[in-house]
Amino acid sequence: MSRRDRATDSYKEYAEKQKYTSNDVITSAHGCPIGDHTNVMTVGPRGPLLVSDQLYMEEQAHFDRERIPERVVHAKGAGAFGYFEVTKPDIQKYTKASLFKSVGKRTPVAIRFSTVAGELGAADTVRDPRGFAVKFYTDEGIWDMTGNNTPIFFIRDPFLFPSFIRSQKRNPRTHLKDPDMFWDLISLRPECLHQTAFLFSDRGIPDGYRHMNGYGSHTYKFINDKNEAVYCKFHFKTDQGIKNIDPARAAVLAGTDPDYAIRDLYNAIANKNFPSWTFYVQIMTYQQAEKFPFNPFDLTKVWPHADYPLIEVGKLVLDRNPENYFAEVEQLAFSPSSFVPGIGPSPDKMLQARLFAYDDTHRHRLGANFHHIPVNRPKCPVITPTLRDGPYCFDDNGGGMPNYFPNSFLKAKDNPKYIEHRDRVMIPDIDRHESANEDNYTQVANFWQKVLKEDERERLIENMAKHLINAQEFIRDRFVGHCEKAHKEFGKRLRLALDKL
Ligand code: NDP
Repeated sequence: MSRRDRATDSYKEYAEKQKYTSNDVITSAHGCPIGDHTNVMTVGPRGPLLVSDQLYMEEQAHFDRERIPERVVHAKGAGAFGYFEVTKPDIQKYTKASLFKSVGKRTPVAIRFSTVAGELGAADTVRDPRGFAVKFYTDEGIWDMTGNNTPIFFIRDPFLFPSFIRSQKRNPRTHLKDPDMFWDLISLRPECLHQTAFLFSDRGIPDGYRHMNGYGSHTYKFINDKNEAVYCKFHFKTDQGIKNIDPARAAVLAGTDPDYAIRDLYNAIANKNFPSWTFYVQIMTYQQAEKFPFNPFDLTKVWPHADYPLIEVGKLVLDRNPENYFAEVEQLAFSPSSFVPGIGPSPDKMLQARLFAYDDTHRHRLGANFHHIPVNRPKCPVITPTLRDGPYCFDDNGGGMPNYFPNSFLKAKDNPKYIEHRDRVMIPDIDRHESANEDNYTQVANFWQKVLKEDERERLIENMAKHLINAQEFIRDRFVGHCEKAHKEFGKRLRLALDKL
């Protein structure tokens, strides 16, 4: 039976809307009209080929180069465009960021959702965190909020990040996902337990990308007009309601419709069923941060809602699909280091590492001028006298503007009004500070005891046991030990479930 939808109608719509007529002729890359685009030039009908067939050479050479490296993490994803609209004024006392200036103000956005561990062709319905990255094209530059569908992450020290990711990917010998790798690192580092509990809960397999929340996860900093700073966290709550897929159906979908989430988002937007999220912030003053029972910059912890309530700010709406996936999604580059006046980083070690790592990876994947790619270009004026040349200069490369600074000729200057907010610090010991034992269990216990209902606990245990059983016994024991430390019943039930398998 044929199954048609807006996604499968893509070429039907293109045929109707296209700007070309039958009088137009396709061309080579340098614009030369083409006479025959199906037959290679040969000496006689049976070959050999000729080097003078530049048309074929161009076709093949371009094909040889048409893939760029896929992202090391978050390789598979879906993108869309829309706007952010301020609906409440409360945030303005905390930040001077121009996008929050007035109720009703709209800022264009691009968004990319993704899975994390799978490759470009992996299934969308796997148990995995989801990326939730938003690019705000503000009138004072681009702000990238590069988050996930969970408010926390597995680790808190960036030195562990490459190893953690490798452990969730493929065994270097077998090229297979490996349960020993998966659980070994998680059980060696108890700070992974909180996020692992989220991952094996119902929310571990969201129903597409529209029915999940997004979180900035890290602690950030807001700075207001008076140059006063507070710490903050970002929450995007889905207006579609949380919806997850049960593991049995997810497994079927992985085989029958591996692009389930991309299709769902595309069709919803094409059918004008525009998904939206309500944006909230949590605020913590510097004084509160001193007294917070945990490290407020620890990415494995949340700020309890009761102590740090969600403050509503606005709406994020997605109302446009990309016209070209490669140009607008595969090349869409988010950088946690892209801040605008009024928003800045906290000392969070994981965030600080990402400030470097994301731009570094874009320079590798897309080149030093990745900001020139239309989807990554700010929509406000960009004046960059010293950022010149390099591969693929798509714009005028600054024309005749001096390429050194300071200089006597360019009227545009730097302005101290925009100097980043300064934090005062007493310099503590410079060291490789061990963070493995910074209370890894209290919030997991809260999650198990207070957040999950009984049927949710049951499913968490079942999901976890069915995966963990595949790891070696000593790894299983080590992991169960951490669950026991978090909450006796959690560990006991997991052990019982494992024994039954
Ligand atoms: P609250 O009861 O105020 O918050 C609990 C939150 O848990 C809910 O608001 C919801 O977040 C989230 N939640 C519900 N079910 C799940 C699930 N299956 N997987 C992941 N998150 C879920 O309590 P606290 O703020 O004191 O937090 C208690 C515990 O709740 C924390 O230790 C943490 O494990 C978890 N949590 C807390 C969040 C926070 O920002 N404070 C956010 C998410 C989880 P939401 O409203 O964002 O959907």
